[in-house]
Amino acid sequence: MNNDCIFCKIIHKKSPGHIVHEDALCTAFLPLKPINPGHVLVASQQHYDSFLDMPNDVALHITQTAREIGQRINKAYKPVKVGFSIVGFEVSHVHIHVVPLYKKYEITSSTYASIKNGRIAWTDESMHACSQDEQRDILARLQPQ
Ligand SMILES: [Zn+2]
Repeated sequence: MNNDCIFCKIIHKKSPGHIVHEDALCTAFLPLKPINPGHVLVASQQHYDSFLDMPNDVALHITQTAREIGQRINKAYKPVKVGFSIVGFEVSHVHIHVVPLYKKYEITSSTYASIKNGRIAWTDESMHACSQDEQRDILARLQPQ
């Protein structure tokens, strides 16, 4: 565990998180500021800085889990598409964004983000933090059936 990493803290229950799924290799949880309701992050249990450097079996497992979560999102929210992305600029703990998408450019967050001084800057007015009630509703919708 990396003590400076917020995802490690959520995964190891040192910080609160809304967990959608967890197993020996990964944990899926709700981001604080989703692109759309139903947006889930699938992170490796162990801290890896880069998807390219993580062991193949872990990379395969988090990818398979992201697909499975994507199927739940598809069923619960019926978006136009379910998008997947691995970036890691904000938190350098490998995680896959699984996002219900209704418009073409939502996955790139171009509606919500821009580059300022070489860093991603989020426009807080267009992204809203989910309330506890909204997060409970999302968790209930994303339970396996
Ligand atoms: Zn970490």
